[in-house]
Amino acid sequence: MLQFYNTLTRKKEPFAPLDAANIRMYVCGPTVYDRPHLGNARSVVVYDVLYRLLRHLYPKVTYVRNITDVDDKINARAKERGISIRALTEEVTRQFHDDMGALGCLLPTVEPRATEHMVEMHAIIGKLMQNGHAYAKDGHVLFDVASVPHYKASMGNTVDHFVYGMLSHRVQDDLVAGARVEVESYKKNPGDFVLWKPAGNGDDASSVFDSPWGKGRPGWHIECSAMSSKHLGPDFDIHGGGADLMFPHHENEIAQSRAADPASHFARYWVHNGFLTVNGEKMSKSLGNFVTVKDLLDKGVKGEVIRFALLSAKYNEPLDWNEKLVQDAKLTLDKWYRIQDSGFGIQGEFPEAFLEALCDDLNLPKAFSVMHAAKPETLKAMGALLGILQQEPQSWFKGEASDDVQSQIDARMAAKQAKNWPEADRIRKELSAQGILLEDRPDGTTDWRRA
Ligand code: AMP
Ligand code: ZN
Repeated sequence: MLQFYNTLTRKKEPFAPLDAANIRMYVCGPTVYDRPHLGNARSVVVYDVLYRLLRHLYPKVTYVRNITDVDDKINARAKERGISIRALTEEVTRQFHDDMGALGCLLPTVEPRATEHMVEMHAIIGKLMQNGHAYAKDGHVLFDVASVPHYKASMGNTVDHFVYGMLSHRVQDDLVAGARVEVESYKKNPGDFVLWKPAGNGDDASSVFDSPWGKGRPGWHIECSAMSSKHLGPDFDIHGGGADLMFPHHENEIAQSRAADPASHFARYWVHNGFLTVNGEKMSKSLGNFVTVKDLLDKGVKGEVIRFALLSAKYNEPLDWNEKLVQDAKLTLDKWYRIQDSGFGIQGEFPEAFLEALCDDLNLPKAFSVMHAAKPETLKAMGALLGILQQEPQSWFKGEASDDVQSQIDARMAAKQAKNWPEADRIRKELSAQGILLEDRPDGTTDWRRA
């Protein structure tokens, strides 16, 4: 039986789908202004495993992960680089796909873009204006937090009963204290958040949209309310994202969606992944302590090793990134590929204990310990649920040797060009001793194969 920790109820709960014939999951995706770092990747990899698990357990899963392609950070970066917003968002979306693909992540069922959902966003904002939960001021449209009841500490967990603060458990005083520093003149209350904001002078035309409230662009939160209801309906099963998104982003998604459509419950289960940290601090663009996925791939670290390293802790606990984590991931994968290579051709069903571990709030450390103790012929089937161990062992190990082999081939070519025949010969013999046979082609290039 599948169960996971629901941020909304603050406890581990059995998963009871709204419709077992079609599980519906929404995860907040990237803001496409810069190449993804390992912290972004952790979130994608974790939900990829959840998606694979759900697909194993249910006949159909609709997984929606959005692309945020309208945002102040995007505008600023495009200006800085002197390129159009469209060029930037297309470039970074491509990089995101390349890098997550290298980590073995499946594409979601639907990958909606914010800029293509203006109509849906306007519809929600229109409803909120109509039923008194939003107001327009100085070109802005704001959600009026005073128009909905607020969470109080005495309430505990309020699943069915909609109050502002129900997810993050922030009470009104916290909201005011958090925003006291600088209250914008267009806000009635400091906690009010932007649904629509006016275009600035000199904004790139591709970030300016018409709306019933004037030209401008959406606030960040409204896009996820619009895209989830469009592709999953007003009620759906699971909503995921990083722990940093719980407040204000997810709290505001709930507020907008439930205030606009009082009959809906929005997401039933809220799942948050923990941070990837560096020396205990969250890896982030703004702190400058980030490593991009591409940086590591370029250094020759395999995507599968990075993926495995990102899965080495409980998904909702912090995971500290360091050299040893990567080394250990590689050693374990090498070991499992070696076991598979040594003649255990037949594929077996995986042990029940493995599925039980994953179904218990995605207990990855436990799932890995089952793998360490399992019969060799079951490894590949378990790996499939985690998105690892699906390569031919030969190509896993060949992939590894090839960089090294290629650099030796290059060195031999340089020696030949310098007419240093003894050196060229020495390299050939050295490779041959490692079981690598060289074949010089008529066009001057050299191919290699294992003896
Ligand atoms: P962003 O592009 O910053 O909006 O982040 C995209 C996703 O990555 C969000 O779900 C974030 O919560 C998540 N994320 C960003 N940094 C980290 C981190 N250091 N650890 C885990 N998740 C992160
Ligand atoms: Zn979102």
